[in-house]
Parts: sequence; C-alpha cells; structure tokens
Amino acid sequence: MHRTSIKHHISDQLLMGYAAGSLPEAFSLVVATHISLCDECRARSAAFEAVGGAVLESSDSAEMSEASLDACLARLGTPEAPRAPVRRAATGPFPAPLADYIGGDMGAIRWKPIGMGVRQAILPTAKGASARLLHIPAGQSVPDHGHRGLELTLVLQGAFRDDTERFGPGDVEIADEADQHTPVAEAGDDCICLAATDAPLRFRGMMPRLLQPIFRI
Ligand code: ZN
Ligand code: ZN
Repeated sequence: MHRTSIKHHISDQLLMGYAAGSLPEAFSLVVATHISLCDECRARSAAFEAVGGAVLESSDSAEMSEASLDACLARLGTPEAPRAPVRRAATGPFPAPLADYIGGDMGAIRWKPIGMGVRQAILPTAKGASARLLHIPAGQSVPDHGHRGLELTLVLQGAFRDDTERFGPGDVEIADEADQHTPVAEAGDDCICLAATDAPLRFRGMMPRLLQPIFRI
C-alpha cells in the first residue's frame, strides 16, 4: 500500500473520540486500521491523546481557564514524530488491526451475496455500530443509499469513485444523513472496503465536547 497516496483522512472529531475511547467498537476498528496505514492521522491521534490527558488531569476541566489551557498546550509542545508502529505481518490487503477481526486470511471470510455481484461479511463488534467488509466487483456500483447515521468506508484494495471524489487504498469516506451517494468501483482490481455504520446511535463523549473549543471543530 502506498501510504503517501492517502488523500481522505479521519476527521479531528473522530480522532478525538478515538483518543478518548468513546467511539463504538466498529468505528474504532476503522480508525485503528486507517491509523495503521497513515502517519499523519497517527500523529494527530497521539496529540489528541496528550491534550485529552492534560485536560482530564486538571481539577476542574469544565472551567479550565484559557491561560492554563495555553500552558497545557505549550507544555505539550510540538507532537513528537510518530513512533514506527508495531507491524505484524499483514494478511493480504488486511492491516493488523483488521486481520485480528477476520481471524485469518481472505479464505477465512464468509462472504454473503447482497445483490449486483456485491458481497459482504459482517464483523463481530459490540452493539452501537456495525462493521462489515464489502467486496465490490471492478466497475460495479453499490446501490444508491442514504444514511440514518454516520458511515465510514475505508478502502483496502482497489478504488471507488463517488461523484467527483476518488477513494483509493487507505482513504476513508465519511458520509452522514445529508449524503445520498452511489459509490462505483473502478475498473481493474475488485474493490474491498471496510465499512462501519452507527445508525441511529451517534457516539457521545466528554472529550470531544471538551476539546471542541480548543481545536475549533
Ligand atoms: Zn489519515
Ligand atoms: Zn454510504
């Protein structure tokens, strides 16, 4: 996988939720898988973890003064260069965080047809959101659909286009209620994606709310 080619990243809000441990398991799986491929998001995630820890350490985080926030951020300084991730042997197109869920290689996946040549395999995650692998034949479109909640789609192999945007290996598309879309797999390799949806439950957490004013998201 060419890591420098990643163009579509995890949002700050999701990275904060991940750092705070407030994302449903299915979303955490997508974030962890992307982070294992993306140095940029890994560094931002580490920075959020550091800031989050500092915010929680203060005695009254809700009333933390701007001065102490500044002091806090100054103390943190520039985020360190990300340490090289611990890499286990990837299995086919599956980075380590995901390989753990699949319990083997491609041959271990129990695909189920969902029409138009598209196949899916639901992954075992806790309630609140669901995760699945999608296998879309090259050139095939995924039926037009809207979303009742948030949907994250991470490309593992091949690529798809959605309106004007292209999503290749490592890229994440973030879609919500406002989006109605028709992803189409590019010609060439079949497209394999990891998708997570939370409809209708949305993640909640203290940390994103606390950190929102700091990062203005
Ligand atoms: Zn990224
Ligand atoms: Zn969608």
